[in-house]
Amino acid sequence: MPEQMVTTAILGRIDRPVEGEISRTMPDQVGNVAGATTEELSERLIQTTGRGIMPGPLEKVMVFWLSGMGCDGCTIATLGATEPSVEELLIGALPGIPTVVLHHYAASIESGDHFTHSLEQAERGELDAPYVIVYEGSIPDENLTVYGEPWAAEGSLPTWAPADVRRRIPTAEWVRRLAPGAAAVIAIGTCATWGGIPAADGNPTGAMSVMDFLGKEYRSAYGLPVINVPGCAPIGDNFTETVAVLLLFLNRQTPLPEFDELGRPAWLFSETVHRHCPRAGYYEEGTFADEYGDKECLVEVGCWGPVVNCNITERGAVGHMGGCMVAGGPCIGCTMPGFPDKFTPFYKPPPGSQVSTMMSRLVGSFVRPLRRISQLERNREPRWKERVPSGWALEYDTTTLTHRTIEFFYHKLQYFRSEEPGRQKPVEQYRSGYVVPVEAAYGEDYQVLPDRRAELARQRGAPQRPELTPQVEGFKAVGEE
Ligand code: SF4
Ligand code: SF4
Repeated sequence: MPEQMVTTAILGRIDRPVEGEISRTMPDQVGNVAGATTEELSERLIQTTGRGIMPGPLEKVMVFWLSGMGCDGCTIATLGATEPSVEELLIGALPGIPTVVLHHYAASIESGDHFTHSLEQAERGELDAPYVIVYEGSIPDENLTVYGEPWAAEGSLPTWAPADVRRRIPTAEWVRRLAPGAAAVIAIGTCATWGGIPAADGNPTGAMSVMDFLGKEYRSAYGLPVINVPGCAPIGDNFTETVAVLLLFLNRQTPLPEFDELGRPAWLFSETVHRHCPRAGYYEEGTFADEYGDKECLVEVGCWGPVVNCNITERGAVGHMGGCMVAGGPCIGCTMPGFPDKFTPFYKPPPGSQVSTMMSRLVGSFVRPLRRISQLERNREPRWKERVPSGWALEYDTTTLTHRTIEFFYHKLQYFRSEEPGRQKPVEQYRSGYVVPVEAAYGEDYQVLPDRRAELARQRGAPQRPELTPQVEGFKAVGEE
């Protein structure tokens, strides 16, 4: 049986051999157990969960997720997002945000030509909603392909045509076809934003970023240049949050959020890793890890955090947990346009770090001992003047003359032109002549331990009270006779 007839027999399809002639009647999709398109399923979910009032002109936005030369890590990272989650976007759970109808090569219900058909509809302007392109992976130079097969493709055209007349469509071509009509183009991950690992020096496929591919002059149908959410893999929340605020903008609920000069969401990428790193205190005190697994700053085992725009130290990797430094890994600059080449060799200290670590060491050698004294003193109750009644560290109250001298001046400085806590000396008197009980019993120097208080009370001739002396006699430890 000729191939076209076989196809017709399986799918019950009508003839559609010529690219560009899209029929509105499609055959049933073999294996689609849901019996619905992604969009219909999304509608069913919304009907099940209920939906609040939707302000704004848009009820839904189509998202076409195209995949170039990547590792699918961006997809995995996005599926792990929690704030907002993909599910929340799909069922329209967020006020003011239109429902997302996601056309993703792995997550869509449609497959094969049914999947490709919606891309064709978008190109022809036949959708009943605006669409956004999300591109994952870098874009190869399809002029360099071997034997005419694309490096990265999605679907083939004409749909439902015999194999010998079909042509696989490079994702680069889909970008060229769809970008002019898209409400926005979002590049996700470092491969799509800057070129990433496929575009590293050597670059056999001529890989490049979406921004390189579309050029400086590109503007979406809503007037937006390419939006870049970098990371290898990116933080899933960075992406879903960017999508959410973009949808609010498209739905006229908010102004356009701020993007930096490279198209990154400015509120996510304007800080460096280092500024919010849990190890930054070690850097400042000049103590550095010698090997992996040490708790100190990782700059000497190759961390580039001080110059890298990334918010993983604030946001964590998934659900505010994890992230490079938390997991013990130095920053290798994976969110940066210069990644990977300008951060290699990995795990070697960045040359620029020599100056700053030397300065930190110098400052730290003065600051650390002073802080230790100050910290030790602030770990003492005011009444622990002579000794600390802790059974956990019997020598805790031992202090050196240097320690006491430094603390003396520190204390003076701390309360210079300020009032010290507690009752002031000479002791404040109430006009009525009332004296607070603790002073009546022990005098001005009442902030002392109980045995010293008992002695003071005796000296002052104050009445002796049995509870002034701790009752420890007769105490027996477990197992003592
Ligand atoms: S580990 Fe890296 S980011 Fe963290 S403090 Fe050290 S240099 Fe900065
Ligand atoms: S800390 Fe560095 S290596 Fe880790 S995600 Fe951010 S840029 Fe990438």
